[in-house]
Amino acid sequence: MPSIRSLMGEVVAQPDGLPPFEEALISLQAQWREAGYFESDTWAVYADLTVLAFLFCAAWWMSARHKIASGALFGLAVHQMLRHGHDFGHSAGMWRTEQWSSPMAHDMAGYTLANALLGVDVHSWRNLHQRHHAYTMSDHDPQVCGLPSLQLAL
Ligand SMILES: [Zn+2]
Repeated sequence: MPSIRSLMGEVVAQPDGLPPFEEALISLQAQWREAGYFESDTWAVYADLTVLAFLFCAAWWMSARHKIASGALFGLAVHQMLRHGHDFGHSAGMWRTEQWSSPMAHDMAGYTLANALLGVDVHSWRNLHQRHHAYTMSDHDPQVCGLPSLQLAL
């Protein structure tokens, strides 16, 4: 297996070269970065927070009469929080450190979300997830666990 290192989803050029797919991926990432696709949008953050608040409120409001629908909405809300936890782990989107007033505010918010609210240890997750992005969908991907059916689901 070629030595491919990755910084949380970003393939890094290696002195001994990379296979063509990884070279193309680096080029594509550079084009997307230049086009601003990795920049966060303040209005998207407000929309995200509004949707999250709506999902939690709707789940709570429906919990007395419509338990299944309430559970589904709560599940969607938790899913969105996990997406934010993933972005925090990558320092991507609204979770890029420079988007915050200070690195400490960024870390406090992110660790509160991930560790306290979602119960995911950020440091362990980053270690595992970095290897996941370096070896996505291969036998060396620690987040696939060698189960082919999960490779389609992740
Ligand atoms: Zn990721």
